[in-house]
Amino acid sequence: MERLKGKTALITGGNSGIGLATARLFVAEGARVAITGRNRETLDAVVKELGANVLAVQADATDPAALERAVAATVERFGKLDIVFANAGIAGTTPVGKTSQEAFESILKTNVTGVFFTVQAAAEHLKPGASVILTGSVHSELGVPGYSAYAASKGALKAMVAVLASELAPRGIRVNVVSPGATRTPIWDAQAPTPEAYAKLEKGLSLTIPLGRLGEPEEIAKTVLFLASDDAAYVHGQDLYVDGGVNGAP
Ligand code: NDP
Repeated sequence: MERLKGKTALITGGNSGIGLATARLFVAEGARVAITGRNRETLDAVVKELGANVLAVQADATDPAALERAVAATVERFGKLDIVFANAGIAGTTPVGKTSQEAFESILKTNVTGVFFTVQAAAEHLKPGASVILTGSVHSELGVPGYSAYAASKGALKAMVAVLASELAPRGIRVNVVSPGATRTPIWDAQAPTPEAYAKLEKGLSLTIPLGRLGEPEEIAKTVLFLASDDAAYVHGQDLYVDGGVNGAP
């Protein structure tokens, strides 16, 4: 079933992990998709894999002008914009005493400023029925040591979605957050650079997840598809957890 037939989507961070899984699913569901990221090689690889329904634009999420250019290129190529998945993000774990100002601000700049200016650049092109989805995280609630900047950045999206939802509702535009729990993507590479380190990390994380395993990027993508599609026509201003039961577990 082509649930996104005739729709055009912009996915930031569409060349890896959750964004890439979502780009694949959206194309399979009939959408035309523009993806952004910084890495030209992986952007080109997605176009090679998915074909002419995909446009890859190199754009740093910390640069509002680049985001504006990415939106303009999307509208120029596909004629319109119906779905925005503001997903590009970085993680980082350092204890409070060891977090540099640069590291803290880098996370905020990518995960909050980047998301806001993605939405701002896209908003003027969105019409009634459009859907905006931001990638949050279960970390906005968890209080895991080392995650001050990351948790603050994702918590900011929870606050921001309420405002965006009020501002954009009169124009018929829905806005929601999808908040994954630990998901098997390259975002963990820095923390666990070897297969052995990754296996150890995964084992430890799995013990903290009621369903006993990490999520797959495809599982997050299916939720993003739901929020993007008309199946979610009455879902607005929500933060939807896809986390194996971590949020809300006793
Ligand atoms: P990946 O590292 O696989 O993907 C991150 C994506 O963001 C890449 O496409 C990367 O592209 C892009 N990106 C990062 N920084 C920038 C930047 N400055 N400008 C443009 N693009 C950028 O990780 P995930 O797929 O896991 O992460 C996607 C989102 O999901 C993030 O917001 C993350 O916080 C969130 N998340 C992930 C969880 C997980 O466990 N995996 C859990 C909860 C939330 P490039 O490198 O080319 O710039």
